[in-house]
Amino acid sequence: MRNAVLILVAGAGGFIGGQLVRDLEEQGIAVRAVDRKPLNDWYYRSPSAENLISDLKDKDACHKSTKGVSQVYNLAADMGGMGFIENNKALCMLSVLINTHLLLASRDNGAKRFFFSSSACIYPDYLQKQTDIVALKESDAYPAMAEDGYGWEKLFSERMCRHFSEDFGLATRIGRYHNVYGPYGTWDGGREKAPAAISRKVATALISGQREIEIWGDGEQTRSFMYIDDCLKGTQLLMNSNFADPLNIGSEEMVSINQLVDIVEQIAGVGLKRTYKRDAPTGVRGRNSDNTLIHQVLGWSPSVKLVDGMEKTYRWIYDQAKARFDGREFVAAYE
Ligand code: NAD
Repeated sequence: MRNAVLILVAGAGGFIGGQLVRDLEEQGIAVRAVDRKPLNDWYYRSPSAENLISDLKDKDACHKSTKGVSQVYNLAADMGGMGFIENNKALCMLSVLINTHLLLASRDNGAKRFFFSSSACIYPDYLQKQTDIVALKESDAYPAMAEDGYGWEKLFSERMCRHFSEDFGLATRIGRYHNVYGPYGTWDGGREKAPAAISRKVATALISGQREIEIWGDGEQTRSFMYIDDCLKGTQLLMNSNFADPLNIGSEEMVSINQLVDIVEQIAGVGLKRTYKRDAPTGVRGRNSDNTLIHQVLGWSPSVKLVDGMEKTYRWIYDQAKARFDGREFVAAYE
């Protein structure tokens, strides 16, 4: 019976993995949580999950982690915002070892289902050259010209999942996440993404009294951002569905980075002097998620409004920034 209920979350010390552990446990599901980071650095540490510190690039670690589990959520990867992925292409591609070894171990240990967290970074550069881009649908992935490094690893691993399904009968599910944000995630240190970076900059400006903000690029680049609650719901709906092809899991509410700054300033009740770092890494010029297919196959799509999700995100990041400014210790989520 244990086999029917134990779920592995790989990358459980990270942002999405940590929140998924919490969400699964709230549903009464037993979880094995694995990450290579020391437990103290996990964004969420469950007192009841089986928490393991292990490097999942290692084949034996994957075998040990998948023993007795019925489902595997692979959320472990070396990743970050544009500043990180544009400067760490080899490191991002090495995440292929995690997914490959986890797939092999899941097959060998008889897991029933496997979720892979892919990314909108698999979409071709040539479709994302304008700010008013046509939203990306799943079939746009080919002919492929993914984001160099990180995106190619995701696209290759998507196909590896597909062929494990076809050749070995392991049911795989592939979510193409579009910019996930929310509290309890990376907000500084170089791996944070735009919503967290902008929240931290606005919070820091308020706390320090220096009413300025630096924006990467000209701020006109566009994106959509999905709140963590939508991400968790879409991920589990997809995992438990019969849909085996890659599926966008993202918001359709596209904004420019300047508009995102407007939103955070409004939440914080402050107006800042903007400077633009035009040579900073910004990625593609425009990107949005086409949600036609997710509507069709799941009867659902992400719906949390950016302003509502950013309110919660900003408040959490403000508290972290203030604690650091005051010399207090960072307190992990929910403890
Ligand atoms: P995150 O960096 O917060 O979490 C990833 C976790 O994986 C980290 O805790 C890290 O320590 C762990 N990890 C990395 N290498 C490992 C290894 N060898 N062994 C064990 N653990 C390892 O990132 P996240 O935002 O939670 O993203 C989760 C997944 O979703 C990743 O695959 C990411 O590529 C994908 N994704 C995220 C976004 C987003 O906007 N957050 C967008 C698209 C795709």
